[in-house]
Amino acid sequence: MAESEEDRHLKMAGEFDCLPEPLPTLRHSTSHVMAQAVKQLFPEVRVAIGPAIEDGFYYDFARATPFTPEDLEKIETRMREIVKKDLPFIREDWPREQAVRWFEEKGEPFKVEILRGLDAPTVSVYKQGDFLDLCRGPHVASTGAIKAFKLLSSSGAYWRGNEKNPMLQRIYGTAWLTQEELDKHLWRLEEAKKRDHRKLGRELNLFDFYDVAPGAPFWLPGGMVIVRELEKMARESLDMRGYQEIATPLVVNKKLWEQSGHWDHYQDNMFKLDVEGEVFSLKPMNCPESSYVYKRALRSYRDLPIRYSEMGRCHRNERSGTLSGLVRVRQFTQDDAHIYCRPDQLQAEITDLLDLVREWYGTFGLPSSYRLATRAADKLGTEQQWDSAEDALHQALQSNGLAYDLDKGGAAFYGPKIDIDVEDALGRQWQLATIQVDLTMLPERMQCEFIDTDGQPKRPVVVHRAIFGSYERFVAILTEHFAGAFPTWLAPVQARVLPISEKHAEYARAVHGRLRQARIRAELDDRNEKLGYRVREAQVQKVPYVLVVGEREAQNGTASVRARGGADLGALPVDRVLTDLATEIASRSATLTVGRSA
Ligand SMILES: [Zn+2]
Ligand SMILES: [Zn+2]
Repeated sequence: MAESEEDRHLKMAGEFDCLPEPLPTLRHSTSHVMAQAVKQLFPEVRVAIGPAIEDGFYYDFARATPFTPEDLEKIETRMREIVKKDLPFIREDWPREQAVRWFEEKGEPFKVEILRGLDAPTVSVYKQGDFLDLCRGPHVASTGAIKAFKLLSSSGAYWRGNEKNPMLQRIYGTAWLTQEELDKHLWRLEEAKKRDHRKLGRELNLFDFYDVAPGAPFWLPGGMVIVRELEKMARESLDMRGYQEIATPLVVNKKLWEQSGHWDHYQDNMFKLDVEGEVFSLKPMNCPESSYVYKRALRSYRDLPIRYSEMGRCHRNERSGTLSGLVRVRQFTQDDAHIYCRPDQLQAEITDLLDLVREWYGTFGLPSSYRLATRAADKLGTEQQWDSAEDALHQALQSNGLAYDLDKGGAAFYGPKIDIDVEDALGRQWQLATIQVDLTMLPERMQCEFIDTDGQPKRPVVVHRAIFGSYERFVAILTEHFAGAFPTWLAPVQARVLPISEKHAEYARAVHGRLRQARIRAELDDRNEKLGYRVREAQVQKVPYVLVVGEREAQNGTASVRARGGADLGALPVDRVLTDLATEIASRSATLTVGRSA
């Protein structure tokens, strides 16, 4: 993975502090202007680092008290004054010792610490007006180039991301090349707040969190419906493609992790248990255990490929400070699979997988993009193994007609991979699927074999892949993507029946009963409340269809149907509603189609 600007900032190493592209350069320059404004307004503050990040920038300051929203307003106003002055960014190269002395005199311990960590004889500093910062650049020519920016928030952050270090105050901002792009981004942020899955999860009874189990969701009935529908979709699709589902133990002796190599590299992230004097752990991944199932029998070249899928519940001991909703959790369920194949079968397997990925993401209206990571310098396996594996991935992407980026040298030491991102309704990118080819790790460490045509035992290639990634994170993404208004097939409640008054309760019960019998998730709301109130409540709960029934409907065997979003479909025969709903649900339609058929 590419080193982040933050990392480069902390190291002050390499060619650039920030990407020499227009947007990161602009954002990084804006962070200098922010630091200048902060130093003018709060001279006692000490400066740390200020990198560009995705969509914006931040700067960390040492200050006894957090910045208030009023402080941010003041800082932003001062920044606009600095921008108006159009101060040039002037670069100077200084001997390192001169820079150390200068920042020592100014009482800037963080800059001194960075400088002391460098072994370069000279360093560069940038000045604009009365402000000077240690930096490699590049920057925009002058502060006047900074036009569209906004400060967003402030929060605590540890120096160098380490909780043993002092707590700093970080101010986040965003900057864009045009006002129009800035406005669009601010709208996206507002919309993202409204769609926040943690908020919707509680409001729509999908899932919740309690401090007795940090990083592990309590699935509520509504959320469990969504998980079950996703599992059903996955199982149907995988059954058709010749997968076999397995389930492996959650609590495993550390011997397994020693053999797989995880114990050396990963044990700090594992939950450990003492069982009768031996060390066990909750599994953080399913890979090594799947190989036990593979190795139960002698496999011949004719038996391959073998595709084991697993809804693998995993636990990883993430630090509590990093946990966030369903996106960063300690307990999650991967839609995992391990495909054991011969090297000559790899291309066909990857081709099929890419087809599967497009089919699944297409169901949710999530456009996908692809990135192929190729061999790094420190790798296991032969050049020839890597040549043929990378070639198989290229060919598979091309035969699916997919454009893809190349991440040269980005592969893990045991094989190339394809990472797949999706773009949600707000234009945000999420990395979901990974298709990881494994030439050596599982095959060698777990000693998997098959008997080849020549009668000799050979190592299979293993493909590790997850498409949703984890059910937890995928439900979070879907909740925000759909803003809680799930397609009918996923909606916890698909239809709600409302009698106009008590007089029509019996007919309403009959309609509700028919929906239930057709296995449609229907609710009856016959409370003694005004109809308008009950309709609004169904809308707030984002129920796809509301069926209102009164005198006329009871006489004609109909229901007056309102689709979510407000469309009044008029009175439809109940039979018709049932058939249309069944079709919409069975086809996993992304849109509401009841009443639309000819
Ligand atoms: Zn800079
Ligand atoms: Zn795996």
